[in-house]
Parts: sequence; structure tokens; C-alpha cells
Amino acid sequence: MNNWQEEDLKYIWHPCSQMKDYEAFPPIIIDHAKGIDLYDIEGKCYKDVVSSWWCNLLGHCNPRISNAIKKQLDTLEHVIFANFSHKTAITLCKKLMTKIPKGLCKFNFADNGSASVEMALKMSFQYHIQSGNPQKTRFMALKEAYHGETLAALAVGDCDLYTKLYKPLLLDVIRVDKPDCYRCPYCKHYKTCNAECFERTKKAFEQYGHETAAIIVEPLLQGSAGMKIYSPEYLKKLRKLCDEYNVHLIADEIATGFGRTGKMFAFDWAEVSPDIMCVSKGLTGGYMPMSITITTQEIYDAFYSDYLEGKAFMHSHTYAGNPLGCSAAIEVLNILDDEKIIEGVNRKAPVFNSMIREKFSKLPHIGDIRDIGLINAIELVKDTHTKEPFDSKLRLGYQIYKKALDKGVLLRPLGDVIYFNPPLIIEEKDMDFVSDIAVECTKEVLSNN
Ligand SMILES: *Cc1c(COP(=O)(O)O)cnc(C)c1O
Repeated sequence: MNNWQEEDLKYIWHPCSQMKDYEAFPPIIIDHAKGIDLYDIEGKCYKDVVSSWWCNLLGHCNPRISNAIKKQLDTLEHVIFANFSHKTAITLCKKLMTKIPKGLCKFNFADNGSASVEMALKMSFQYHIQSGNPQKTRFMALKEAYHGETLAALAVGDCDLYTKLYKPLLLDVIRVDKPDCYRCPYCKHYKTCNAECFERTKKAFEQYGHETAAIIVEPLLQGSAGMKIYSPEYLKKLRKLCDEYNVHLIADEIATGFGRTGKMFAFDWAEVSPDIMCVSKGLTGGYMPMSITITTQEIYDAFYSDYLEGKAFMHSHTYAGNPLGCSAAIEVLNILDDEKIIEGVNRKAPVFNSMIREKFSKLPHIGDIRDIGLINAIELVKDTHTKEPFDSKLRLGYQIYKKALDKGVLLRPLGDVIYFNPPLIIEEKDMDFVSDIAVECTKEVLSNN
């Protein structure tokens, strides 16, 4: 352990970590970064193929984003956002209007993804109270969902690892069966199916639709569940059903937004619009903590009246509309356009995917390989016929993670699902390198267990 590591452990409680693991495996102290490369204080390079928790969109220390922030920094760093505004936020909203699903047009800012989910839920709840449907007080969410870790966001989420202990504190959410495409009970494939599994969601609406304010979904990609991908048909059907039951459709596009799935937003694949959309992560290219909850004129109007009627949305975050975040976000959108980034994603995606398929298919225990955009996931299973998973106590993913770091690649498997979610600017030689290392490490770990 070096000095910095010792001091880190003296002071810092890291997120989502058993700190005791750090005794044997201390934190890697990063000194600087460029593109997809992270460099530690000893000069060792790590390829960041998880986009630093899925937020880095266009590479680290991207000169254009850095310059945009520097320029903003000497003009206006922050200002109260109630009753005050600034050109950078206004410009950002105008630009976003040309990119987001039709019908969304009102932007409410916060500073992280969970906060934007909280905001979406409160907004929907209050909307129904103020539009003559006070019985609509509940929320629906999908099995294995992840929507963040503040209390309401945890409640709509369904990853035991994060949620179980806190159950007594959480809202009673209606849990809806979700597409489970690798283990599809209808034996279909998500790229060609007709979302046959939607029947189960329909049943939930029949039973609970009348008392439900909103359903929240991670569109097409359940990230934390293990990069589970499902069909746009599901979203199409869900949109119809939500309209039928006057239930808001909340799109948590925090992980999927800004080109990750090969379109600007995952909802674009379904060619329908949500009523409320949460964006964060890629929004600022991974530079500044910022999120936006975007909604429709109709929802906005239900809050619009004389002050004394008490219909305002009384929700605020100190850093709402932070100009530095807005300046980064504007530049991200400029780069997506100027450098035709999403076209690039769609050009590179099949190349990356076939590399991965070719390399991993030579290994045993490969249950499923799935992809959307540049995101590729490989699910390891004990038995590829029965799809029985490995004993989680083996911590295969964690073993692979450590080995890959040793060899200079930052993977961060979700259980036994190894995945790549690289910055969109990744080049072919890096795709080749990181997939080689991932296969090598997986092979070693599998043969030792
Ligand atoms: C990361 C994430 C969140 C939570 O965002 P934070 O900024 O970490 O609070 C919510 N939903 C999804 C789908 C995410 O990927």
C-alpha cells in the first residue's frame, strides 16, 4: 500500500463497497485521465470500459467539454435558480428540445439521478391530486429495477442487494413482472419478439391501474439487473396501456440516454413518448453532477395557478440549474452533432459485438451474450442448458474484476454478468484489447473454480 492509499483508507468511506475488501485490495489512486484511459499515480493505465459508472460519454478530459466549462467558470459559476435564471440553462433546454421525445417540453433541474427519480414520482402523485384523481397514490415498477438509492428511488427499485435491509422504510410499490429475455418463458428472442410477456403487465394494470399514479421503467435496458435487454414492443404496449388507465409513464433514461443504445434515447426505439423522463449520467458527459426531470405541458399545467391555491411543485435542490453543468451539457450535445457520435456508435457496435461473440463463444459457461448500442453483456452460468447460475458466494465477477484490473482494464461485472459500457468514442484497437483481456481473465477464473 502506498501513502495515498493508507490515507484514503484513514478518511474515506467508499460508495457501494465492503470496506474490509479494501484491506486486501486497496483503492487505486487515479492521477489523470485521457479518452478511455485512466492513469494511476504510478503511471499504470486502465481502460475505462464502464465509463466511470456509465456517465462518461465522450472520453475523459475531452478538450471541448473542458473548455466549455472553463469559459463558464469565469462568467458565472452558480446562481439561485428560484426567480433567477441564466442564458446557459435556457440555451441547454432549447437544444434539448430538438433531441427529446415529442411532447416533452418542461425541464426541472436537480443534481443527481436519484433526485430526478424522486422528483418524477412526486410530480406524478401531485398531478393526480390536482386533476381530480386523489385515489391515484401508488407506483408500479418492474422486477429487478434500479432507479437510484434515496428512499423513494430505492422503493421503486428491486435489487435485493440495495433494497432488502431498508424494506421497513420504503413505499409499498406494485411490483410488475418484467421481460426476462434470456430465460423467456415464451421461448422468444427480444430482437424479434412481440413482447408476449406483456400479458403479465396487463394483469397488474387490471388489478391496480385505478389506484396507480405512475409506472417507472428503465427503457430497454435494466442496467443494474445485469444489463438485461428487452424489446421496444414492450414500451409501445405499455404506452397504450398507460393511456387507457390514466397512469403516467416515467422513463428512467439515466443510464440509456444520449446515444448509449444507438439512438439518442431508448424510448426512440419504440417511437413513443413517456410523460416524464429522467436524465442524468451522460447529460454532462460525466463531468458535472446534474439531472433533469422533463415533462409535458399537460402535467406542468396541473401545477399552474394562483399562488394561494397551493398547487406549486415545492421541490428544490440547491444546485438546480448549475451553470457549469449546463455548459458541459450544451457542449456534449454539440459534440454529438458535430462529430456524428451516434452514427459512430451504430457503425462500431456490430464490430465490437462480433469480436465479443467470437472470443467468448470459445469459453465454457457462456449463458448469454446480449447487446444494445456499444453495451455488451456476457452472462456466465453454471449450466448452459438449464441456465442455472453459479453460486453467488464464488464471486466470480469480482475475481474477474480484480484480474482485469491487474491487466489494465476496468470492468465491473454485475454478479456473474461481465459487461462493456465504454465511452462512445472508443476505438477499434481498444475494443480488441479490452475484449481480449476480458476473455483471458474469464477463462482463468473459470478454470480455477
Ligand atoms: C445511475 C442510475 C440512477 C441513479 O442515479 P444517481 O446519480 O447515481 O443517483 C437511477 N436510475 C438509473 C437507471 C441509473 O443507471
